[in-house]
Amino acid sequence: MANQLPLSTNPFDDDKLREECGVFGIYGTPDATAHCTLGLHALQHRGQEAAGITALDGETFHTKRVLGHVADNFTSQDVIDSLPGNAAIGHVRYSTTGDTILRNCQPLFAEFASGGFAIAHNGNLTNATHLRKSLVQRGSIFQSTSDTETIIHLIATSKFRTLIDRFVDAIGQIEGAYALVSLTKEGLIGFRDPLGVRPLVLGKLDNSYIMCSETCALDIIGAEYVRDVEPGELIIITDEGLSSHKPFPEENARPCIFEHVYFSRPDSLTDGMSVYEARKNIGAELAREFPVDADMVIPVPDSGVPAAIGYAQESSIPFELGIIRNHYVGRTFIEPSDQIRHLGVKLKLNANSNQIKGKKIVLIDDSIVRGTTSMKIVTMMREAGAAEVHMRIASPPTAHSCFYGVDTPERKKLLAARMDVDAMKEHIKADSLAFVSIDGLYRAVNHKEGRNSKCPAYCDACFTGEYPTFLTDQNQKDQSEDQLDMIASTGS
Ligand code: SF4
Repeated sequence: MANQLPLSTNPFDDDKLREECGVFGIYGTPDATAHCTLGLHALQHRGQEAAGITALDGETFHTKRVLGHVADNFTSQDVIDSLPGNAAIGHVRYSTTGDTILRNCQPLFAEFASGGFAIAHNGNLTNATHLRKSLVQRGSIFQSTSDTETIIHLIATSKFRTLIDRFVDAIGQIEGAYALVSLTKEGLIGFRDPLGVRPLVLGKLDNSYIMCSETCALDIIGAEYVRDVEPGELIIITDEGLSSHKPFPEENARPCIFEHVYFSRPDSLTDGMSVYEARKNIGAELAREFPVDADMVIPVPDSGVPAAIGYAQESSIPFELGIIRNHYVGRTFIEPSDQIRHLGVKLKLNANSNQIKGKKIVLIDDSIVRGTTSMKIVTMMREAGAAEVHMRIASPPTAHSCFYGVDTPERKKLLAARMDVDAMKEHIKADSLAFVSIDGLYRAVNHKEGRNSKCPAYCDACFTGEYPTFLTDQNQKDQSEDQLDMIASTGS
């Protein structure tokens, strides 16, 4: 067949913000790798490009990293046997920085004078380029283009003596949003960024402890959810047990509110709250804020389902599956040839025409990014005979890029950065379009007064443009572009 390219992670999901990565660490069980494999399998939705596990057996580290899915690469007994030990960390990756090549895959490993050190990280360092330049000037030689390696070099070049002091010295120099797990011969280390933007939870299974991105990874191995790792908390797990440290001054937490909207699995708890409940609450808020006289509520599957249930229950309009999703496209489909690419969204979603014909429908989706998929779905509903199509979105307009480990298009490609809601409605060809308000979103996640603009409880920068950390690399990039523009305009 002409024009076929290698496997794509999901060629039809290019109109979503993409989840960042998922991490999993376990200490104190001879089945560490088997548990880590299951945990990563539960976190697969957070990254489908690559996966890796490092296990620690005595003082020997064993690592396997692959491009591809956990289930395709880690479940055979041979692989599990090749990663022996009582402790393991693992990672699933979607690349937000660095290319998708094996040397960028995690866990990364380094041999320090004090012994081996493996690290897996979810998030993005907003000053990694700045730090990297200065490290390279001082003689560091980088093996990858991943920002995680910056942490390794900061530890290697630290003036402190013990590994933990060097680790704290390193993370004291980084900015951004990150949750990380690392493995040393002394034990398992977990750290969540001082604002807690990226999630990390603590679990327990018999005598072993687990730290991972979401509680669904605890459920799969039958572990108990103990609590969230607190923002800025350093947890060290050794044979003596667990110790918790707060090496930096405490700040107001700003966890990512988009975890509730889309990233986390609905069966997870995020910030201690059920993601499924939060999404249903958002749907109910939408129904109160933007009611519609309609015959049925239809979710855009799968992520729109809980919000659509909430909308239907609040409005007493029947919930129907008016769109059916083919679940096998993302996993197995090769990048399509030009001949079938025009089918686009139909390869993944199909209208349930019998239900829709002649009906006034409310379509619920979690977000609009570029708007390309929304336009196709509205057209699909009309072609299936819908009398009216009213679109309701379970997040405020996504008008700003994320610099915290989430893949967003550059700002000018975000539909909400280019158009107001009326123009967006025309663009996607809906009869009406509305987004839940930012206060409605906060109410849905148990902040009854809505958003406190003086002290917001979440990172909501992709909606508000108010970034809670320094953006050193981005600011330096903007300055360079401004200087180039100035040079171009003056002709010098
Ligand atoms: Fe989450 Fe948006 Fe903040 Fe990124 S900018 S961390 S997606 S809330």
